[in-house]
Amino acid sequence: DPAGDTDERTVEMALRPRRLSEFSGQSRVRDQLSLVLEAARRRGTPPDHVLLSGPPGLGKTTLAMLIGTELERPIRITSGPAIQHAGDLAAVLSSLTEGEVLFLDEIHRMSRSAEEMLYLAMEDFRVDVIVGKGPGATAIPLELAPFTVVGATTRAGLLPAPLRDRFGFTGHLDFYATDDLVTILHRSARLLDVAADPDGITEIARRSRGTPRIANRLLRRVRDWAQVHGRHVVDEAAAHAALALFDVDDRGLDRLDRAVLDALCRRFGGGPVGLSTLAVAVGEEADTVETVAEPFLVREGFMVRTPRGRAASALAWEHLGLTPPAGQDR
Ligand code: ATP
Repeated sequence: DPAGDTDERTVEMALRPRRLSEFSGQSRVRDQLSLVLEAARRRGTPPDHVLLSGPPGLGKTTLAMLIGTELERPIRITSGPAIQHAGDLAAVLSSLTEGEVLFLDEIHRMSRSAEEMLYLAMEDFRVDVIVGKGPGATAIPLELAPFTVVGATTRAGLLPAPLRDRFGFTGHLDFYATDDLVTILHRSARLLDVAADPDGITEIARRSRGTPRIANRLLRRVRDWAQVHGRHVVDEAAAHAALALFDVDDRGLDRLDRAVLDALCRRFGGGPVGLSTLAVAVGEEADTVETVAEPFLVREGFMVRTPRGRAASALAWEHLGLTPPAGQDR
């Protein structure tokens, strides 16, 4: 539903922290980034290029925007898939003003030719524009104003080494602790004008897969439930009822998470099974299973990665209320 999507994006924008100091959690990355930015500010030069990696919804876009704000520089936003040809990238690069921040989301999905142009530009602030075709083609070097690339990727390992090496700082975002999500949710409730009590907030935080985007979305669904049921406060009972309705279980696993575990246990006897086979079994893209479901399942101890594929842990069997086959113990 496209209208729903627009609404979702508007709310997400409204909830985005405006200062680095308002960004909760990820204290390591935040402190490292503050240092890099402060040093650059004192030197009066653009900071090193920054790469942010981690599962979706943990705040990569938010941090990129904050880099622009903290540096008081404009930010240009584009993404890997939007850059089909090196020429598209050359057009963006040559229009950047001095010190501008270029946010490249899903940077691992850029074309190979654009990638090559990008890492040369990041190093020398120069691009070679090819004029003409065939044997008569010539490369005209074009000087660029110094700028800072902020790249975001769900998997830093997918970037070719020459590109990865051009980033002076890489921040790895990890799932948030429940306490940090509690802080984020209290702030969101205030901004959205939702009355919520601490138990309600904690229950939502606990079941948000360590992900602020999910926490903010569940807060709105619990608010909907409370409203429709004539309750005026988001409390624990409202959280229980709404989260059950939206298929979020007690550990925060959603439908895809459970489908993956269910296929692993019931169809593949607990595995190990290859990623693509598993993805076909749940009717999803391998990439979605790998970047969305798997990191959380592995981190929570439901799934293990083995050299021969993905396998269910004892916890997974227990969570699904199933008995693992004899002799299986992970
Ligand atoms: P994707 O990779 O899918 O684009 P992302 O990692 O870039 O996701 P964001 O869009 O930055 O995620 O964040 C998703 C939502 O979560 C935003 O609405 C933002 O307000 C909120 N959010 C993320 N991190 C924080 C944080 N540390 N404090 C407060 N809100 C946060």
